[in-house]
Amino acid sequence: MTPFMIGWFRPSRTLRVEGQKARSVHPDPGAHYDGGVHTIDLSTIVPMVAHPGDPDQGVPSDPTNGANISDIGQVSINIAYGGSCTAGKEDDIAYYAEVCKAAQKAGLKVKEGVEFFIQYGSGQVKQLAEDRGWHELFQDVGVNLIDPGCGACIGAGPGVSITPDQVTVSAINRNFQGRSGPGKLYLASPLTVAASAFTGVISSWHPKLFV
Ligand code: SF4
Repeated sequence: MTPFMIGWFRPSRTLRVEGQKARSVHPDPGAHYDGGVHTIDLSTIVPMVAHPGDPDQGVPSDPTNGANISDIGQVSINIAYGGSCTAGKEDDIAYYAEVCKAAQKAGLKVKEGVEFFIQYGSGQVKQLAEDRGWHELFQDVGVNLIDPGCGACIGAGPGVSITPDQVTVSAINRNFQGRSGPGKLYLASPLTVAASAFTGVISSWHPKLFV
């Protein structure tokens, strides 16, 4: 039997493909879908953000809230915040590491005037980062690392904005006004958060961004 393993994930002694499939919920044969069947072309999906104030409206079709990054212009940031229970999982940390590794290779540090925080989602995730050398990598490029726990996403601890004019790009899951301080908080993916920390403006990630 093959251990359940995707990309860089650690092999598990307990999770196996067959076991996962057996636990999955499957439709009955010939099931009718009231909402119809929607086909999504993943190649057309581009990085986007939710504008400050309401995570529910993060759709680019609504011009008042949510936009493709390519359409928002130069949005300078003061804080990049990755992690929490939402974006501090093993795969998220691997995304931060991917960007930080490219930055390190290019001789970059976190942009002057920007604070980049990564909060591990659990002790297990932190251990993975240490085992992979990512913890050291993060420190080398200037990331502020935070141990697991509820933090800036409930307005507590490092990473909370202090003044209304501060701008944050964050991979947490909520950006209601005032939840993480008085500033403006854009929601984005872990890759966007990490890329933006080095450019100083909200940026979508691509492997040649720092080349
Ligand atoms: S405040 Fe909520 S979203 Fe943030 S880390 Fe705690 S449980 Fe997760």
